[in-house]
Amino acid sequence: MIPLAAARTVVLEGCPPLSARPIALDEALGCVTAEPVVASEPVPAFANTAMDGYAVRAADTVGAPVRLAVAGTLAAGTAPDTELGPGQAVRIMTGAPIPPGCDAVVMVERTRTEGAEVVIEEAASPGDHLRQAGEDIAAGQEVFPARTVLGPGHLGVLASLGRGAVVAFPRARVGVLSTGDELVDAAGALLPGQVRDSNRHTLLALLARSDCQPVDLGIVPDSEAAITAAIQDALPICDAVLASGGVSMGDFDYVKVVLDRLSAGSMRWMQVAIRPAKPFAFGIIEGRPVFGLPGNPVSSMVSFELFARPGLRAMTGHDELDRVHVEAVADEDLRRRPDGKLHFFRVVATPGKDGRFHVRSSGGQGSHQLSAMALGNALALIPDGEGVGAGETVTTMLLGPF
Ligand code: AMP
Ligand code: MG
Repeated sequence: MIPLAAARTVVLEGCPPLSARPIALDEALGCVTAEPVVASEPVPAFANTAMDGYAVRAADTVGAPVRLAVAGTLAAGTAPDTELGPGQAVRIMTGAPIPPGCDAVVMVERTRTEGAEVVIEEAASPGDHLRQAGEDIAAGQEVFPARTVLGPGHLGVLASLGRGAVVAFPRARVGVLSTGDELVDAAGALLPGQVRDSNRHTLLALLARSDCQPVDLGIVPDSEAAITAAIQDALPICDAVLASGGVSMGDFDYVKVVLDRLSAGSMRWMQVAIRPAKPFAFGIIEGRPVFGLPGNPVSSMVSFELFARPGLRAMTGHDELDRVHVEAVADEDLRRRPDGKLHFFRVVATPGKDGRFHVRSSGGQGSHQLSAMALGNALALIPDGEGVGAGETVTTMLLGPF
C-alpha cells in the first residue's frame, strides 16, 4: 500500500493545466483566469447621480429652503447638453450623467415642486449623492489577478468593462464510463445478478459540480476490446476520462490491463492506504489523464474527491485543489479497527453554536452503502487506530451543502 499523499502526487504530476484561451463570458462561470484583467476604461464611465432628485449647485442651496428654476429633466441614458446656470436645478433620475455646473444632487424626498420651480428644503454639500467616474474601477487598474475563479460578480465586472470574453482555462471535458458485465441502466426489473449503474450518474454530477463538462460514455462490458474501444473513442473528444470498476483483483478487472497497454507503461496501479477507495489506477493516454476508479459506489465517489477532483482542478488552473478541511467535534463515537489505512467516514457535519462543525455518522459505512454518501455532507478522516470517541476532535473534509 502507498500513502494517500504519494498517490495524489502521481495524479498531480499527470495533470498539467489545459491551454488557456478566450472564453465567452456566458461560458466562463467557474473558469479560472490565466492572466490579470486590467481595466481599459473607468467604471462608472461618467459622473452620475445615485438618487432620483434635483442636480444643483450646492452653493445655491445655502440657507435652504430655497427656490430654484427647473431647467429641464435628465433621465438615465441621456446626455446633458447645457451647463447649469446659477439659481437653476435639473430634475435628474438615478444613473443619469451629472450636468456640467452641478456639484450635488438633492434627493426628491427633500424637495417639492411649485410650478416651474423647485423648493430645496435642505442645504446640499458638494458631492452629495454623486457617483464619480472610476469610483468602482479606475482605468488601468488591475481588476483581477491571474488565477481568479470567476463567479457571477466577476462576470458582471467584466461585462461592465465591455469584455465579451476573458482569457481563462477552459472547462475540462471529462468522459465517464462504467465498466461491468453486471451493469444495466434500465428502469425495468433486474435479471438475476444485474446491478443498476449508479457510478456514471454520481460521477457525471460530481463533474458538473466541479465546473467540468461531463461526457457520458455509457456502460462498457468487462472485455479488453470493449474497454479499449471506449477509451480510444473518448480521447479525441475528452481532456480526461474517468472509468469506474475493473481496477481490483478480480478475474475480469480489465480496466487496469487496458490502461497499462494504452498508456505505454505510464499507468500506475495503486493500492492506496485508505478506506474506502483502496484500488486506483492512473495513466496518461495520448496526453490525457485516465482515472481508473474503483467500482464500489462509495469508493468511486471518494476516489473522485481524493484524486480526480484535485487533478481536474489542476488542469483547469485552480490554485486551491482541495476541499476545505476543518477540525470538527465528533458528537458520537466513530469507531474502526487498526489496518494501516486512513478511513474516510461518511458523516453529517452541522455548524454548532460553538462556531465549530459537529459530525455524526450519516449511515452504514460499507463501500456499497451509497445512501450514507447521499445523506452525508462531509468525510471525517479517521486515522489508523481504534477511531475517535464522542467529544474528540476529528479532521473533516467538507463537501456540502450545509
Ligand atoms: P469492481 O470494482 O468492478 O470489482 O466492482 C466492485 C463492486 O462495485 C461490485 O459489486 C460491482 O457490481 C459494483 N459496481 C461496479 N460498477 C458499478 C456501477 N457503475 N454502479 C454500481 N455498482 C457498481
Ligand atoms: Mg467489475
